[in-house]
Amino acid sequence: MSAIPPTASSKIQFSKSQAIAMLTPSIGQGGNNQLSIQLNVKDTPSYVLSNVGGFKDVASKINVVSYDKLQRTVGVIYVDEENDDIPVKDCGTAVDSAKQICVRPGKNKFLDTQISLRDSLGIDEVTRDAVIMAGRNKVCNSLAISKNIATPEIHCSLSTLKDSLNKIYQGTNVIFTDISKYPSKHLAINYDYDRDGLLDAVGTTEIRFLKNSVADSIKLAGDQFDYYLILVKNAKYIRGLAWLGRGGLFESNPRLFRFVLINVQPHLDRSIRTFTNTVGHELGHGCFDLQHPFDEKVILNKGYKKGSDPHNFMDYQDGHKSRKYQWNQIHENDKISRPGGRDY
Ligand SMILES: [Zn+2]
Repeated sequence: MSAIPPTASSKIQFSKSQAIAMLTPSIGQGGNNQLSIQLNVKDTPSYVLSNVGGFKDVASKINVVSYDKLQRTVGVIYVDEENDDIPVKDCGTAVDSAKQICVRPGKNKFLDTQISLRDSLGIDEVTRDAVIMAGRNKVCNSLAISKNIATPEIHCSLSTLKDSLNKIYQGTNVIFTDISKYPSKHLAINYDYDRDGLLDAVGTTEIRFLKNSVADSIKLAGDQFDYYLILVKNAKYIRGLAWLGRGGLFESNPRLFRFVLINVQPHLDRSIRTFTNTVGHELGHGCFDLQHPFDEKVILNKGYKKGSDPHNFMDYQDGHKSRKYQWNQIHENDKISRPGGRDY
């Protein structure tokens, strides 16, 4: 083995009964250390990842690899969907003219209101805004949407979230030192282009717009965290997702953001553990480029199926454990880019 860096943790953990038995030896720091460890392997591994290895013999000699401790921070961003239409006439009001404006957009210049089939879309000749007009029946039938869709508070404290993430990432030697709400107020972003009250799925204009708007807000407010966790109220077909990419409309100082997004509403009916594990799982994708074990080719070739590694937090989301090949990936892929951080 190579020299143990001074920052290395002296605890080494393997997943019990899955491939390698648990051991937490105390190792000296500095110099070259070769550890010979007697393992008492009680469980014969039913499945051993090829790049992890397993123990067949009761007594085995193993190499110990140490990793630098990675201290990381997460900014938690609540995003409300911005709806600020102005009702010029109340819904149901009879008016004098088919051209009477019933609803006009607010400061976001976007009509948030679902247009009634009995009303018509027009252009305000003064402001050039798209507006909703009364139409041939000369009655305003569209109910103006003027309230933001507010994202509810998550059902655990941020310190509980931090403790849970540190438990999940314990074996990887990643430590989350700061998980804080950022900025203190919710961001209001007008992403609901199709006016259905939901954030559309991956690859859509809505997601792209949300990502760019959040990135711009971070740049304006000051980029203080390694990763960002975006919380929204309602997202279509999404429980959690993660992405890596250049966000924002500012071309100078392009930042490769590592974002994780969680759909808060459906989590409120589930356990806190489901929520924290989903965040841990998505951080695995978005911040450390981990894949699902069942999606990785090396494993697919061996007929590996979803759930074959049930304790693994990248397999089933109720797992808390990880494997050495994932630790390697985390430390190989760990690149962050922000002012004061390391370049990507
Ligand atoms: Zn996943």
